[in-house]
Amino acid sequence: MISHHFDDATLVARAAGAMSEGMSLLIDSHLHWCKECQERAWQAEQIGGQLLDQLTPAELLEDSLSSVLALLDEDAPVATFKPRVSGSDEVPEPLAQLIGGDLDALPWRGMGIGLQQYDLNLGGAGACRLLRIKPGVSVPHHTHKGNELTMILRGSYSDDIGRFCKGDVADLDDQVKHQPIVDTEHECICLIATDAPLQFTGIMGRLAQPFIGL
Ligand SMILES: [Zn+2]
Repeated sequence: MISHHFDDATLVARAAGAMSEGMSLLIDSHLHWCKECQERAWQAEQIGGQLLDQLTPAELLEDSLSSVLALLDEDAPVATFKPRVSGSDEVPEPLAQLIGGDLDALPWRGMGIGLQQYDLNLGGAGACRLLRIKPGVSVPHHTHKGNELTMILRGSYSDDIGRFCKGDVADLDDQVKHQPIVDTEHECICLIATDAPLQFTGIMGRLAQPFIGL
């Protein structure tokens, strides 16, 4: 049962195509599991379409047709073949396309006591990583310069906002300062996408920043 969903602003930004690759991946992963957000994402796309319809068309330059035709003559980039990988109970299909369906099979890297990460290396601004957190471990208190999306794949955590379980998303902007802590005897694995580096606060945070580097 999913109880935390995206903000409207996030779904509108997705409909406008204004998301980093990592954030799009996280959103598509949640949509894969969440009928409620699928419906809202569809509505956001309809609103965007209506706004586009109301725009006054810009006049075309005289040579528009010839420059478009010239583009057709250029060598088209060869599409890279992407094997289709099905999702699993823990990995929604959009994410499985990149990492496979088995979280335990990833080459996790230790980041200090009780924390491991796997960087998806998507490039561009921000970051997109999987974090694997041992029971009772808390991520240092931090705020965000930009937005941060988190989706839980295994286990659960609690923070100042509430309790987040499998499938839930935390949709945070730069006004939120929080300190998630894994709240059962099971580890927690979550996908995190940011559009700017996290800002750690407090001395523990400053110490952890170079290691975490989110
Ligand atoms: Zn949802």
